[in-house]
Amino acid sequence: MKYIETSTGKWEIVIGLEVHAQVISNSKLFSSASTKFGSAPNENVSFVDAAFPGVLPVINTFCIDQAIKTGLGLNGNINLVSYFDRKNYFYADLPQGYQISQYKHPIVSDGYVEIEDEDGEVKRVNLERIHIEQDAGKSIHDQSPTKSYIDLNRSGIALMEIVTKPDMRSADEVTKFVKKLRSILRYLKTCDGNMDEGSMRADVNVSIHRPGTEFGTRAEIKNVNSIKFIASAIGFEIDRQIDILESGGVVDQETRLFDPSTGKTHVMRSKEDAQDYRYFPEPDLPPLILEQCRIDEIRSTIPELPDAKTARLQRDLDLPHYDASLISSEMEIANYYEAALSHLPSGDNEAAKMLSNWMLGELFSYLNKDGKAITDCNVSPKDLAELVMLIKTEVISGKIAKEVLKLMWDSGKSASVIVEENGLRQITSVGDIEKCLVGILEEHPDKVAEYKSGKEKLFGFFIGQAMKKMQGKANPQLLNDTLKRLFDR
Ligand code: ADP
Ligand code: MG
Repeated sequence: MKYIETSTGKWEIVIGLEVHAQVISNSKLFSSASTKFGSAPNENVSFVDAAFPGVLPVINTFCIDQAIKTGLGLNGNINLVSYFDRKNYFYADLPQGYQISQYKHPIVSDGYVEIEDEDGEVKRVNLERIHIEQDAGKSIHDQSPTKSYIDLNRSGIALMEIVTKPDMRSADEVTKFVKKLRSILRYLKTCDGNMDEGSMRADVNVSIHRPGTEFGTRAEIKNVNSIKFIASAIGFEIDRQIDILESGGVVDQETRLFDPSTGKTHVMRSKEDAQDYRYFPEPDLPPLILEQCRIDEIRSTIPELPDAKTARLQRDLDLPHYDASLISSEMEIANYYEAALSHLPSGDNEAAKMLSNWMLGELFSYLNKDGKAITDCNVSPKDLAELVMLIKTEVISGKIAKEVLKLMWDSGKSASVIVEENGLRQITSVGDIEKCLVGILEEHPDKVAEYKSGKEKLFGFFIGQAMKKMQGKANPQLLNDTLKRLFDR
């Protein structure tokens, strides 16, 4: 267990998250209006979203299916009966004056996400629940000096609120949790996880206490919308609470906001209790009753998820955990890798590892440099696999392969075409290599003499000269062996 130690002793950190994940769906939770991101303000607003008098919500069954899929993907229990409730509060961008949410009986209970803790051990972060609710609109305060504007495009979009138990103990664990959660939601295609577009955001609950004592009072930091900000907010909050407790104060249970420009959290309001929201059963919607066969059918559509994929790649290909988990972290990366793998001889684990090295190393550096996603990569999986096999069968050296990949990246041509067009085949003829070396030795009789009188590091000089003459194409091992043989004669 990791504690924070100050001059007064050790503190244990406790963190729980409430993650709001926007459901991928073409239309909203209770209306047919579009959910398209980036539309003109108030373009996607139906009478239901604007809460005109007399309108009634109609449940979008696709959103429910998405929540079920999420619950199953996160190892939760799907409740065959759940209820919608009204959560009443006043906000300018909430035209109904209440939010339809699920309170006592959510659609999903329990579940967990596995992360690696500081010691590389698997740690479970348990989930309390996942419930469905509608999003509010957006108030815009920075367009006019005197007015605020309201954009209701977001009003009524389906959200899943994923609530964890207070199971995390450091900002690092929270970062890993959010990344893993986002990866699973993307695999499931139930939330795009784009935090910068607001489709995933988290309320971060933080408290501290002395090890062995009860949990402390938490502060809740609302609506943090990037992984970096979540980590900074936690760091700030831990310091703030330690300062308060060590100077004899008490931490207030309150709701705070994180300001990215200062890296600080500041108080927004004192924490409201459930009764402040005057929850009551939503009279306009019946209970949500699910058939087991619907759940089973959705279960059959769940793809292999990142943890299972990582384990399989390690088991079947003998890949190191690092490689396997990086490949599995995004479905598109995994798809690319597995497509390339299908072009390698089956059972050739050495080639599989080389492919991983070339993809995660060279290819990723080109993608990063050009800010491209793997799905826009102009080196096809098949061509990368071919490059790997050219190296493995010693048609080209690893060093030349880097040049080849650069040309592949620029031209979109295949590895073998580039090797042939540019005459890059490795020189593996002992005769040619020996002839070249003999020439070099003849050109440098003085250096040869020095070498023979004990200046052994000149060996590298001769190799370098020969490589240069053969444009880097000599098989390095053969070159070394041949030079040794020439000197030993
Ligand atoms: P609310 O809905 O009022 O915010 P909940 O009891 O549902 O309250 O808890 C919300 C979140 O707070 C959960 O993610 C939970 O893990 C976390 N939490 C609860 N107690 C603590 C605590 N002492 N320290 C840190 N987080 C906590
Ligand atoms: Mg809360």
